[in-house]
Amino acid sequence: MVLKPLVVAKFGGSVLNSPEAYVRVAEVIERLNKEYTVAVVVSAMKGVTDKLIRILENPQDLEKELSALTTSHVRVLEKTVDDMNIFGEAFAYITRLSDELARILWAVRYLRLITPKLRDYVLSFGERFSAKLLEAVLRARGLDAVMLTGWEAGIVTDDRFGEANPVMEETVPRVRSRLGKVLEDGKIPVITGFIAATKNGEITTLGRGGSDFTASLLASILGAHAIIFYTDVPGVMSTDPRIAGNAVTVPRLCIEEAFEFARAGGKKFHPRTFEPLREAATQTIITNINEENRTLVEKQCRPGAKTVALLQGYAMVNIEGGYMAGRVGTAALVTGTAARLGVNLAAFSQPVTETRISLLVKLEDVDSFTSELERVFDREGLPLRLSVERGIAAITVIGDGILSAHYMRRILEEAMKAGCNVYSVSPGAKDKSLCLLVDEPCSIEAVKRIHDNIVLPDVERLMKEQA
Ligand code: ASP
Ligand code: MG
Repeated sequence: MVLKPLVVAKFGGSVLNSPEAYVRVAEVIERLNKEYTVAVVVSAMKGVTDKLIRILENPQDLEKELSALTTSHVRVLEKTVDDMNIFGEAFAYITRLSDELARILWAVRYLRLITPKLRDYVLSFGERFSAKLLEAVLRARGLDAVMLTGWEAGIVTDDRFGEANPVMEETVPRVRSRLGKVLEDGKIPVITGFIAATKNGEITTLGRGGSDFTASLLASILGAHAIIFYTDVPGVMSTDPRIAGNAVTVPRLCIEEAFEFARAGGKKFHPRTFEPLREAATQTIITNINEENRTLVEKQCRPGAKTVALLQGYAMVNIEGGYMAGRVGTAALVTGTAARLGVNLAAFSQPVTETRISLLVKLEDVDSFTSELERVFDREGLPLRLSVERGIAAITVIGDGILSAHYMRRILEEAMKAGCNVYSVSPGAKDKSLCLLVDEPCSIEAVKRIHDNIVLPDVERLMKEQA
């Protein structure tokens, strides 16, 4: 059988917030299905993953909270599915899963022990509920939908719970055969984003926002014609519209710019969203559910600033001491310690005098990292001083050619006008991004200024060229 071109459609939690929203999503899928073969990837309902984390960390009222959670899912079914068989099957699935979840959480409350593995297991329920709902809504509309978990779809990961990595040698053939079969049978697979499993069948998650990564991974493995990310904003914006109300949709981004954008925390994309799409021939579109506007991600780059992203919640760890100047191995010792602890270094720098090394880590990692560094310095007898500055923000300006003096000077000027101390300026790869580290309190104002005076005029010019 000759299949129509494949489109992977990903629906984020932000658009899955009510019974009506599931219907709207189903309508979009129904429309796509007329022209294309469709594979759907879904997130949990809006807020559900956060809620599961809260219950897990604070299970006192779990009976009440779980019953509210189950009710909110069942309510979607009640409002959207009339067919008794379809309703009954989905209802049974949801109540069975709720019971399972309740039993796990009772055990957590009793044992007071949360491991990363257990956490992933608990978080996996959100996507499973959501995919089952969408399957039911689609079936009630006469579409032949079938829900698959990430592992049923064939995604195998390592056991880095909380931020698992797909094992490609296992994943590629499995996805091709399993999802390939579902598609060849003419069905619409509704796949849970975010969750997968190790080859021993232990449930893992790909990290917050991971449904994006699931979708792009599947699209690249299946050689999809297109991937469409449906979210609550009309495409990639020139900056976060909550920071600048005048932000506009960026009509076109090249894949390398999109890659930097997701890495820089843009639109809460999973940082690895565009990784699988770099080499793929897949057309990438980011839009909102009403398709008011959209961003097309293309291979070819166009010069100019496109967007500015902000990430907060970092700490800077500074290591100082004349001792390390000219001595080979101090940097290796420091970065090796981070690697051993599994602490990701978001940025690092050292002047040529070698009297200071600065490393940027997530706030939640800073205490374990610094106490281990103290121990290592002690053990090695190194007379080094450690200091920590919390509340550091990373501002990343993205656009082809952004490292030219023309942009760099103006970007620094705007940050300084916002009252920022600029701790470091780091160029990204291929002349596509520039990252500044500043204190959090000035960061919003700096983003606003960079947006209004540098990014927005460039994007508006790009829009005119399109028109
Ligand atoms: N539900 C997960 C989260 O909130 C994954 C996702 O939505 O992409 O992080
Ligand atoms: Mg998301």
